[in-house]
Amino acid sequence: PTMSRKLIVGGNWKCNGTQDDVKRIVEFLNKAEVPCTNHIEVVIAPPAPFLPILRSTLRSDFNLAAQNCWTGKGGAFTGEISAEMLMNLNVPWVILGHSERRTLLGESDEVNGRVFPQQVLLSMHLWCPMVAEKVAYALSQGMKVILCCGETLEQREKNETTMVVARQIKAVADKIQSWNNVVIAYEPIWAIGTGKVATPQQAQEVHANIRAWLSQNVGEAVAQAVRIQYGGSVTAANCKEIGSQPDVDGFLVGGASLKPEFADILNARI
Ligand code: PGA
Repeated sequence: PTMSRKLIVGGNWKCNGTQDDVKRIVEFLNKAEVPCTNHIEVVIAPPAPFLPILRSTLRSDFNLAAQNCWTGKGGAFTGEISAEMLMNLNVPWVILGHSERRTLLGESDEVNGRVFPQQVLLSMHLWCPMVAEKVAYALSQGMKVILCCGETLEQREKNETTMVVARQIKAVADKIQSWNNVVIAYEPIWAIGTGKVATPQQAQEVHANIRAWLSQNVGEAVAQAVRIQYGGSVTAANCKEIGSQPDVDGFLVGGASLKPEFADILNARI
């Protein structure tokens, strides 16, 4: 961790929770003692239906994120949520490109870099929402984005981790002008929800490679400024060691974000 990069911890509730759970979680979050203002940024990502109640009950120094949003301006897209709506609800952050959406919902990096006629492109948007387009559009609406990337176990075993993560980030780099409002979350798929957390060395290695890629392809200032979270089976027990790595600037927490131990994760670096 570098002092110039503010720690950022996200709580990704995924598709979990009831109204009672929301009350219970807000209670422990509001009581949590965290050195918030100067040292840490906290972003809570509940399922979309709970965003308004969280915004009115959650402490004001914690921000909110949606877990997804539409590729462009809202309209006739049944079931989707637009960046405009999120901004209107005072939800400034959105998680995009989570591996569960990439693998279960078919979200791709982009349209394979090929040029398609407008009609085809439109239908591809519908079938295959693209992460890079979503990031570019959310940023254009003034949102802040947590961009997820990460490899499968098979890709890691074939030594493809660096290439896969670079490809995921390049798709976005090609479509955005500024990285000011982007945080990258490195989430190895084999570590998500499995209890098999990456070792601090594994996390550090990929984070450093992401920074090196940004340095070579976007610029050194961006590489030094962009915050990179680690995600995948982060708990109160393992967060201190991972969080002490020089290129780890926080966490994206799934399962443990629903539990009181999330408050301990917020204090990983104290
Ligand atoms: P996990 O999920 O902490 O439950 O492994 C992390 C994530 O998917 O963001």
